[in-house]
Amino acid sequence: MPDVAVVGSFNVDHVWRCDVLPQHGETRIGTYSTGPGGKGFNQAIASARAGASTSFLCALGDDVGAQLARALADADGIALVDQRSEHATGTAGIYVDAHGRNAIVIGGGANGDLRDSFVQSQWVVLAQARVVLVQRESPAEAVTAALRIGREVGATTMLNPAPVNADVDADLLALADILTPNETEFAALLATHGGTTIAPDAVVNTDDATLHAHCRRLLPHGTVVVTLGAAGAFVSHPSDALRGDAVAMYSVPAYPATPIDTTGAGDAFSGALAASISQLDQPFAEHVRFAARYAARSTEVAGAATSMPRLAPLGA
Ligand code: ATP
Repeated sequence: MPDVAVVGSFNVDHVWRCDVLPQHGETRIGTYSTGPGGKGFNQAIASARAGASTSFLCALGDDVGAQLARALADADGIALVDQRSEHATGTAGIYVDAHGRNAIVIGGGANGDLRDSFVQSQWVVLAQARVVLVQRESPAEAVTAALRIGREVGATTMLNPAPVNADVDADLLALADILTPNETEFAALLATHGGTTIAPDAVVNTDDATLHAHCRRLLPHGTVVVTLGAAGAFVSHPSDALRGDAVAMYSVPAYPATPIDTTGAGDAFSGALAASISQLDQPFAEHVRFAARYAARSTEVAGAATSMPRLAPLGA
């Protein structure tokens, strides 16, 4: 029986590292590596390596990418449930500079074929989970179906609204108990659903009371955890559902780290947060502190899925 069910994308990542990211028309010499990725898979690995029994629903092609997904899921004890697609397994081209900053292009392939009917056919898998976690690299109907099942059975539903270029519809937002945007995603969601415009790089300097008011407009019924990179995270609860916390809004500093590659830090954070919530009954702030520690550790190793540490919450 899974503690966490993740519904989302699997990609084969192709990673090029060079001193400076190439500009338009420029060619640079760097190094190449390849490995597994995709926000769904990264978060499933993080959840599993944070000690939660984890199932992962996705769509795969009939190719070496699919074989890689199966082998890696097996190695981490993840129950992989895949819909077969006639398209190639998803891919991502990732460029990383000497400071660990990245630029990414995704070829979604099979991920775009994940159907709500397939998700519904896996009702039993989702209905057993304590936490259902989705992102936005898969079709809206499919991830909406997953959160709807989570709601139906009383699981905690989590939406990591990434990537930012995918519009998040109001139905999906309404089904999320917990939302984990980064600054850019938060700003985009506020513009579309919160009736406010704020520059992404202004989020980190906005005072807590203002951020809290923005979060309440965005997700009146649920908890918002805005991740702020090296500046940590901001948490906002509805006043009648504090999830064991003493206060409705607070900041959690980043855990000290010496980052080599921050790719996937957000995935590490969401996966670890889901794992912790599924395993321990404790104030929400403790779950967030664990997610911050887990994400910080993930930045100290290169790669996305492969950089997820094996680190369980204290007490789990
Ligand atoms: P990505 O898109 O690269 O996966 P993201 O933008 O979704 O990342 P961030 O807000 O950058 O997510 O990071 C998520 C969390 O990871 C932060 O809230 C913080 O706890 C941790 N983190 C990120 N960068 C650092 C860092 N340099 N040092 C320590 N912790 C970090």
